Amino acid sequence: SFGRVGEELGAQVYLVGGMVRDLLLRQDNFDVDLVVEGDGIAFAREIAAREGCRLRTHQKFGTAVLIFADGFKVDVASARMEYYQQPAALPTVEYASIKLDLFRRDFTINTLAIALNEGSFGELLDFFGGQRDLKDRAVRVLHNLSFVEDPTRVYRAVRFEQRLGFRMGRPTEHLLRSAVRQGFIERVGGNRLFRELELILREPDPWPAIQRMADLDLLKYIHPNLKVDARMPGLVAETRRVVHWYQLLYLHQPCEPWLVFLLSLTARLDDDSMLGMCRRLKVAPRFLDLLCEQRRAAKKVLAGLRRRVRRGTEPKASDLYRMLRPLDSEMLLFLMALGDDSIRQWVGHYLSSLQQVRCELNGHDLERLGLPPGPLFREILDTLLAGRLNGRLHSRDDELALVR
Ligand code: ATP
Repeated sequence: SFGRVGEELGAQVYLVGGMVRDLLLRQDNFDVDLVVEGDGIAFAREIAAREGCRLRTHQKFGTAVLIFADGFKVDVASARMEYYQQPAALPTVEYASIKLDLFRRDFTINTLAIALNEGSFGELLDFFGGQRDLKDRAVRVLHNLSFVEDPTRVYRAVRFEQRLGFRMGRPTEHLLRSAVRQGFIERVGGNRLFRELELILREPDPWPAIQRMADLDLLKYIHPNLKVDARMPGLVAETRRVVHWYQLLYLHQPCEPWLVFLLSLTARLDDDSMLGMCRRLKVAPRFLDLLCEQRRAAKKVLAGLRRRVRRGTEPKASDLYRMLRPLDSEMLLFLMALGDDSIRQWVGHYLSSLQQVRCELNGHDLERLGLPPGPLFREILDTLLAGRLNGRLHSRDDELALVR
């Protein structure tokens, strides 16, 4: 119904961006991006009213997000109005507005659009050679100043190249290297850089992109000391394995694999450098705890576990629990990637089972047993949990017997 609503409002509506690219590549992509030649917000309001879906609008940018009941999202943007009044001399005047919108995009493969209005439904617009470059498997910029205009495109180029198995065109790589040499990346705001790094690390296998970043001398903008050393390939590969293992557990606990990859990428940075990186990249406070505080704590935990490996002593389940409990799953997976087989097994055991262990009695039960509430409760409940973890207590009756 997008096209019909567009028609009624007298606006052309186009499907653009990654979905069109991936449609032509026959790859799944569920991000629907629409561009409306006209008032995108009015268009989105009308769709929301008819379909009964939720709507978020950003007046300043002329954009909106439609959120359907099943969580499906559609991004709507307005092709810029000022371009609407182009002199009629332009050859493709009916497309002038969408053409300018597409011209502002990063790479030719992202400039394809499909018309959705009834009269022209399904028509593919290709102003900048996007189809040719999809066929050539090439990432190409639209003009020479593209990387200077927006240096985050440097990271985006690497991401698309590696994700799609494409290669930058030679002039494009040349422009990229020259923009890097001239220091344009330093102008990028930290949070934008971090966002692009996140997108790279969200790829199923970020390793090729990491290597390519090293090859293009892009890692130093994340932190000057960041290097790909001989141990990095093994660590990233191990990270992939543990992340995959964890996903197969289906624990329904929040876990962001890209953060585990970030921990691996930065494993060799010392604490001060890590803090420096987080400051420079304006890392959000919710990540700071994991990347700095927990990372410091985790080093001690790892040292403790390594001592046990050397001595050949298996940690008690309750000791493992006490050591690992303060750490988020991302940090635990990072420890698994860093550790040897024993450590991987211990931390894995914690993640897959110990973490879920609970004792049955709670504070109310203890009160009912006539115990005075206070710090004693915590101690008793901890003892009960330790008993469960170490396999000494198996039931509520076992627990009651111990308390009595
Ligand atoms: P993905 O499959 O990763 O979502 P995508 O192509 O949809 O790929 P997005 O990052 O979601 O990528 O961006 C949506 C569209 O917006 C892109 O197709 C691209 O044309 C455009 N775009 C995004 N960032 C930039 C940028 N820095 N410069 C120019 N165009 C950009």
